[in-house]
Amino acid sequence: MIYMKFTILEQFKSLTQAVSTRMGGMSAEPYATLNLGFHTDDDAGKVLLNREILCNQLEIALDCLVCAKQVHGGNVTVVQKGDWGKGSEDYESAISNTDGMVTDAPEIFLMVLVADCPGIVFFDPKKNVVGIAHAGWRSTLAKISQNVIGKMREVFKSKPEDILCGISPSIGPCCYEVKEDVVEKFDLSCIERRDNKFFLNLWEINRLQIIESGIKEENVENARLCSSCHSELFYSARKEGKTGRYGVLIGIRK
Ligand SMILES: [Zn+2]
Repeated sequence: MIYMKFTILEQFKSLTQAVSTRMGGMSAEPYATLNLGFHTDDDAGKVLLNREILCNQLEIALDCLVCAKQVHGGNVTVVQKGDWGKGSEDYESAISNTDGMVTDAPEIFLMVLVADCPGIVFFDPKKNVVGIAHAGWRSTLAKISQNVIGKMREVFKSKPEDILCGISPSIGPCCYEVKEDVVEKFDLSCIERRDNKFFLNLWEINRLQIIESGIKEENVENARLCSSCHSELFYSARKEGKTGRYGVLIGIRK
């Protein structure tokens, strides 16, 4: 299988972080091949095998993954030792009603599942705290990134100037056409207009929100890789309709 890492986080050897691709898994079309989403209509056995392939590659145990029932909202959950393994091997046990997670517990790897939506990872190397956000347009409107950073500050006393962030490959302003009902909810500076169509720049809105929270500009990495332009590498719900999910993952090793 092939996965990507954020360059800005590579220096931290205690960290495991990854953005999976759709390459190297067991699922058949239209989920081919490394679908990690149990909430799709794919064969759950295949999804489990795919997650095992990912975990083997990253040298982490499958039951160290923690996933959420993502609802396109603004909620952030503080994940603790007792949450270990939730959503790792099925959908039902995943943490409910949340699109953001933070933890300081080692050997818990937070993972969001996406097909076009940005997954955003956060790391505070001083306090050894990680966070993650699933940032589609509704969660972005609910300021999910700022909520994650707020939770890191409130619960773990993280300082914004210490936090590093990575915005995953996801649908870019090249492809993310939206209608007026969505356009009117966002600042026009994050909307691109071409051929009388509107395109939303989720990368930039999230980057600006993160910086507004006090994170240094140089500490925010944007992969700038569009999942729709590169649907051979990533799943794109917009382009493909019924499709799989790739994972964005971060956690601290013991
Ligand atoms: Zn594109």
